[in-house]
Amino acid sequence: MSAVNETLIRDVVAEVLGRLGGAPVPAKAPPAAPASAPAAPSCGCGGKSAATSSPGLRGKFGVFQDAGEASVAAHESFLQLQKQGVAARRKVEEIVKTLAEKNAEEWGRIELEETKIGRLDHKIGKLQIIKLVPGVDWLRPDARSGDHGITLEEYTPFGVVGAVTPSTHSIPTLSGNIVNIVAAGNAVVFNPHPSAARCAALAVRVYNEAIYRETGIENLATIIEKPSMESFAAMCKHEAVRLLLVTGGPGVVKAAMQTGKRAICAGPGNPPVYVDETACMKRAAKAIIQGASFDNNLLCIGEKEVFALESVADQLMAQMEQNGAVKLTNAQLDALTKAAFTITPGQGGGCGHASVNKDFIGKDPAVLAKAAGLNLPAGTQLLFAETDANHPFVVEEQMMPFVPIVRVKDLAEGVKRSLEAEHGYKHTSIIHSHDLEALTEMGRALDTTLFIKNGPCMAGLGLGGEGYLSFSIATPTGEGVSNPRTFTRVRRCVMVDNLRIY
Ligand code: NAD
Repeated sequence: MSAVNETLIRDVVAEVLGRLGGAPVPAKAPPAAPASAPAAPSCGCGGKSAATSSPGLRGKFGVFQDAGEASVAAHESFLQLQKQGVAARRKVEEIVKTLAEKNAEEWGRIELEETKIGRLDHKIGKLQIIKLVPGVDWLRPDARSGDHGITLEEYTPFGVVGAVTPSTHSIPTLSGNIVNIVAAGNAVVFNPHPSAARCAALAVRVYNEAIYRETGIENLATIIEKPSMESFAAMCKHEAVRLLLVTGGPGVVKAAMQTGKRAICAGPGNPPVYVDETACMKRAAKAIIQGASFDNNLLCIGEKEVFALESVADQLMAQMEQNGAVKLTNAQLDALTKAAFTITPGQGGGCGHASVNKDFIGKDPAVLAKAAGLNLPAGTQLLFAETDANHPFVVEEQMMPFVPIVRVKDLAEGVKRSLEAEHGYKHTSIIHSHDLEALTEMGRALDTTLFIKNGPCMAGLGLGGEGYLSFSIATPTGEGVSNPRTFTRVRRCVMVDNLRIY
């Protein structure tokens, strides 16, 4: 319909309704389906299908105030996606990957302005690599063929996935989650972190507008614009939401597990690094700096504390200084610790409990240095200092561009200290060594989802190591680095005695 005709008709309808005392016609029409949107095929339901039965959900392009509406809209879109098959999933994957890369600079800046944590270059980098997240091609059915015919096991969707995203990588997590979840044939509703919700809603709208232009589906990824604990509860409870994916700290993991729904939990980490005398100190130092400084150490997989064998600790620290990290004196470390942690008196044992001061999370090295009382050379990526194993910087998941270095006397102590610092999260651990027995012993003992040898943490996500990328690594629930298969139901289809061709 041409714009002139549409305007004319709307005016006439408005006038007639006005005379009849009916509801006013909104001044602005919901966006018309673009010319490229495919005409909806007739399904014989007389226009009563879910896709056409909820005009209140139109024109939102995924952004909703209400968790119930967001869940219903996602469910409608799931049904539409089902009808359009694998080709539409592939199209969505392509759209999300293309737009994440195209908008990386703008969205990275917007996310940093909203959250005020991390580094602009790395915020941009995390969006440019969404193209590495596995999509539709990941799903291959498993087949068996024998005297009794053939059996096919297929990876099929759940329906709507309810997802929670962190403040540390809001748009990257959301984008990677959409790729995985939609590739598996699902729709998704997001309850984002309140302090990173505006940028998330912006990306959701842009994705849905593009998906709508290409497929006519409007709400494949929905989001609650002003998220809260109540909207989280409402989303989890909604009957359309069949599966949960939460990415965040201990609080949200516990809350998701208590909902009674199946939850895939990408939980907290506190990755230890062990360095022994067989490692290349230069390579180890560079890897630690690269991993721990990335986005000011916001990555859950990032190097958070280092246990170095006594005999090589000085060499390692010298290499770190030579490669751009700055060492703090004891007095500077004390000043930084006072600023970066709040120590509340402990109960019973009398030990103080340290909690991280949020004002320092993800801040630039210069901010930490100021609190420590020193001026940094330009371009400093990371600060470090020698501490003992019980220091708050070792024990807490601190997410700052600082690593504590702890001397250990042997492998046994290194493994023991690493285990304590990891807190049983079973997330990520790292070793720099060429001793096969040390590599094996640490791998077995730490029992982490990611175990990286002789590289920076990001090698564990396919960035400089083999593998693939995800921003949601399911740790306590065991699914590992998420991929499309993580969001599927395995269904078996059996043909008895036939179709085996020899
Ligand atoms: P956070 O735990 O403060 O928030 C994460 C999300 O959970 C947010 O959307 C928040 O609103 C929600 N949330 C928090 N407590 C909740 C509760 N009790 N009930 C319902 N929702 C709740 O985490 P953050 O600071 O945004 O992100 C950093 C944390 O996330 C770190 O612990 C990090 O290790 C972890 N993380 C893990 C992965 C992974 O793949 N395993 C990836 C990124 C971040």
